[in-house]
Amino acid sequence: MNRVRLIIFNAALGPLDYKVPDGMTVEHGSVVVAPLGPRQIIGIVWEEDRLPGESVSDSKLRNIIEVLPVPPLRAELRRLIEWTADYYCARLMSVARMVVSSGGALRGPTTMTEYRLTGVEPERMTPQRAVALDALQNEQATIRELADLASVSDGVLRGLVNQGALEPVEVDIDRPYPRARADHEQPDLSDDQRKVADQFVEAVKAREFAPFLLDGVTGSGKTEVYFEPIAAAIRDNRQVLVLLPEIALTEAFLGRFEDRFGAAPVVWHSGQKATERRRAWRAIASGEAQVVVGARSALFLPYANLGLIVVDEAHEISFKQDDGVRYNARDVAVMRARFEKFPIILASATPALESLQMAESGVYQRVELPSRFGGATLPDIATINLTENPPERGRWIAPELVEALEDRLAKGEQSLLFLNRRGYAPLTLCRNCGYRFQCSNCSAWLVEHRFSRRLACHHCGHEEEPPAACPDCGEKDCMVACGPGVERIADEVAEILPDARIAIATSDTLNTREKVADFVAQAEGGAIDVIVGTQLVTKGFHFPELTLVGVIDADLGLEGGDLRAAERTYQQVAQVAGRAGRGSKPGEVFIQTRHPEEPVIAALEAGDRDAFYAAETEARRGAGAPPFGRWAAIIISSEDEAEAREAANAIGGTRPNVKDVMILGPAPAPMAMLRGRYRYRLLINARRSAQIQDVIRGWLDGLDFPRGVRVNVDIDPYSFV
Ligand SMILES: [Zn+2]
Ligand SMILES: [Zn+2]
Repeated sequence: MNRVRLIIFNAALGPLDYKVPDGMTVEHGSVVVAPLGPRQIIGIVWEEDRLPGESVSDSKLRNIIEVLPVPPLRAELRRLIEWTADYYCARLMSVARMVVSSGGALRGPTTMTEYRLTGVEPERMTPQRAVALDALQNEQATIRELADLASVSDGVLRGLVNQGALEPVEVDIDRPYPRARADHEQPDLSDDQRKVADQFVEAVKAREFAPFLLDGVTGSGKTEVYFEPIAAAIRDNRQVLVLLPEIALTEAFLGRFEDRFGAAPVVWHSGQKATERRRAWRAIASGEAQVVVGARSALFLPYANLGLIVVDEAHEISFKQDDGVRYNARDVAVMRARFEKFPIILASATPALESLQMAESGVYQRVELPSRFGGATLPDIATINLTENPPERGRWIAPELVEALEDRLAKGEQSLLFLNRRGYAPLTLCRNCGYRFQCSNCSAWLVEHRFSRRLACHHCGHEEEPPAACPDCGEKDCMVACGPGVERIADEVAEILPDARIAIATSDTLNTREKVADFVAQAEGGAIDVIVGTQLVTKGFHFPELTLVGVIDADLGLEGGDLRAAERTYQQVAQVAGRAGRGSKPGEVFIQTRHPEEPVIAALEAGDRDAFYAAETEARRGAGAPPFGRWAAIIISSEDEAEAREAANAIGGTRPNVKDVMILGPAPAPMAMLRGRYRYRLLINARRSAQIQDVIRGWLDGLDFPRGVRVNVDIDPYSFV
């Protein structure tokens, strides 16, 4: 090729053509550096005929500067990028950027400096230095990381370097990962599990697209089962991607993986250090990374030789990304398996209705694990009608549940109380004038976090100290907490059971892998009597001594009129109930509700999953909702209220009239302000067969808006705020 068309990472520009200088070799998918005005930009060489662009004569083209030392993106991945951009009405460039998401990795191999102890005593010993010397035995890392490990300042360690007590070591950033061994530990599988595992192993060997829905009750050993096709892929020298919905789940997973395969998998998530990401990226691109465990962003990485994807807890809504490219990793993962021709396993105890429907219609193959492993039984579930048997005044735990908690503590067994609300109280107001503490950037209340003494917005991250006096009327010490969050429930448990050891498990308390590991070790070791947690603890954890689960407010998720409210409530409660009785002792679950007659609550109490799914399916069919109809949202936002409104009206005013497509709005979004931006929304509801993306593109493409206006399209939205 002597001229090429590039996708470039510049939001304002489309694809551009460049000349390939003599002696340079590029191919489709090559990642290159090219000039743009006085600057240099990164681009990806794309098939010219797949990218409409202006044809520029050869004489006007500038030369590509260099080809970066990474493997070219494979054709299958380029097709996936195109499909994703097309389906989600996103820019090709924005999707492609998720592939080359480690800037450092593109620059090729390099080294970095780490430090380790030499055994030399510093001439002058200080208490800080003694702490560091003690903490850093057998450690090797950068100064920053060592300082974190030893909880001392960088300065202390620099001093130790000067004294010769720490020495620098040059390390290859891309040093290889420990190898996982397919036969490290022989699995102990039941006949049911073995049958399913064998089926998956055959699919890996066949190297064909094969989507599976692994539908197994909580505690049925889904992980152990899908470890077998992973082993098959390792034997076959093919890579595996395991997508998990949350980083917190990774910790529990890593331990089990290491037991089975003798080495940890390669981890990928957004919270990693840049050096870890670059090392992982390069190992993934070279094919050296055997098994990658990651959050949804791991899906778009340039695997050299992928042979299997597992999406665990596939029903989880966190697979849907709600900013940037608004894609659903579960659905795109299926497309990736299809383009690259390998099996994919969607594992869940409470599959999404969409996935069940795909199985029903024969697109996915459904495999079931109907019973718990090792003879454990599913827990007994009972509802507590809060209208008839309310908690004491000012409390949130009903007498029946209090009794059950007392009983478990006496027996030395564990309990879990579930409430999907972080902090102490969701709303704080002034006793004197009724003033409500609200976020200055969002249409949202500030949530009191009593332990960290702050008021926080859970939407934009804004935090402030609770003021001594009401900002409105000036009254002192007037703040009243309204409603419970997990911290308040934990306080109540401490009053009821003064001797109980209580742990709060939320994204506030378990925000690093170390803290999660600590929590898991304590819970498994019997050092915790009562866990009070949000949805973070509803899945993935396996605590054999946990025999009681209490759902503080099952109605919480049903408020708000979300399309999936009932399904989500069912999934959350069924998942959290599934934490009970996983060991040899049977489990018991209490669901506190004011609406025991709601179909979803009744189905939970009866343990009748099929009844719930059947009723929900009919409700969705009647409403033209997914999977029977389609939704899309157009969200218009600006820091200027009038500008946002005018843009929304302009879009609303040019709405197309298309058969089978209904357009609602524009109207202020339920979350009318978010992160300082005013928001308007249009909703599109269409028949399944309608070409909704073409309609939206044709509609929006010709429109022009002021610079401050953002127009975002959300195909198959999960969030309706
Ligand atoms: Zn006041
Ligand atoms: Zn906010």
